[in-house]
Amino acid sequence: MLPVVSIVGRPNVGKSTIFNRLIGSRKAIVDDQYGVTRDRHYGESFWNGRDFNVIDTGGYLPNETDVMIQGIREQIHIAIEESDVILFVVDTEAGITSLDQSVAQLLRQEEKPVLLVANKADNEERELNATEFYSLGFEELYPISALSGRGTGDLLDEVVKLL
Ligand code: GDP
Ligand code: MG
Repeated sequence: MLPVVSIVGRPNVGKSTIFNRLIGSRKAIVDDQYGVTRDRHYGESFWNGRDFNVIDTGGYLPNETDVMIQGIREQIHIAIEESDVILFVVDTEAGITSLDQSVAQLLRQEEKPVLLVANKADNEERELNATEFYSLGFEELYPISALSGRGTGDLLDEVVKLL
């Protein structure tokens, strides 16, 4: 069995864009489940000579904060069970939201390594703004741009060290 890296975070932070960048041209497997949590995507990735599986989480029911938090909770629970490393994605364009804080609270209690990924850091200014996410209580912060690939090499170097 390959090691597993899960991508979690509130909707619209860029989880699927990161997932697509990590799996490249390889095919994703879609796992449709019943209940609040749907639409989990599995794919294989490769970096510095290491193969690993990546899981993109999502598919929360829209426009209902309570249901969304429940869906995120469920996704995080599964991610913690089955992952070796968790990528917690936030959005430097939007800044910290209360949903980010809820996700952070769930992840901080866990033993699994969590890397805080500040996505949409497309330029230097966004990268500097990303420091606000240190207040979420994680030791290391990785500013990246999933669209351009900026910063993703440093993130992946760290991910494979932890596998
Ligand atoms: P998800 O809901 O967390 O899976 O987010 P998506 O991957 O669907 O992305 C949400 C939106 O953010 C889309 O419009 C993406 O094109 C955009 N996005 C993702 N990554 C980046 C990035 O690095 N920079 C910018 N500017 N936009 C991004
Ligand atoms: Mg998505």
